[in-house]
Amino acid sequence: MTELDSIVQNLESRGHRVTPARRAVVGAVLGRPGHFTVDDVLREEPGAGRATVFRTMRLLCDLGILCRVILEDGSLHYRLSQRGHHHHLVCVSCGSVRDMDDCVVDDLVRELSRQTEYDIEGHWLEFYGRCRRCRPSGEGQRQ
Ligand SMILES: [Zn+2]
Ligand SMILES: [Zn+2]
Ligand SMILES: [Zn+2]
Repeated sequence: MTELDSIVQNLESRGHRVTPARRAVVGAVLGRPGHFTVDDVLREEPGAGRATVFRTMRLLCDLGILCRVILEDGSLHYRLSQRGHHHHLVCVSCGSVRDMDDCVVDDLVRELSRQTEYDIEGHWLEFYGRCRRCRPSGEGQRQ
């Protein structure tokens, strides 16, 4: 079974109807390196329609196949991911995005929940800076 088939099957087993347009969107997403926007996917699958692309992105995030990345300018991007909840390092110079292995604020969330008696259901944290290649000095700088 291809990855596309297994994702479609997964969606269907959760009661989501996978229309040909939705299937095409999943296929377009699977082939993408790096991060991309809804508009990028729409350019590849113009027949799908914006609402379908948005809904499909959301489903794929819920399945843990995509993660959301907010760039420094506030724009929402998506990225293939198989790692569950995590955070990103975003280079403001070349735009590369790196997944971080662990959630770094688990303790803070627990402490905040204790202090405020909030039942905290989620949080968002991205780091912006310059990657090793883009730093003005140091090893591995651009030639
Ligand atoms: Zn960079
Ligand atoms: Zn990610
Ligand atoms: Zn976290």
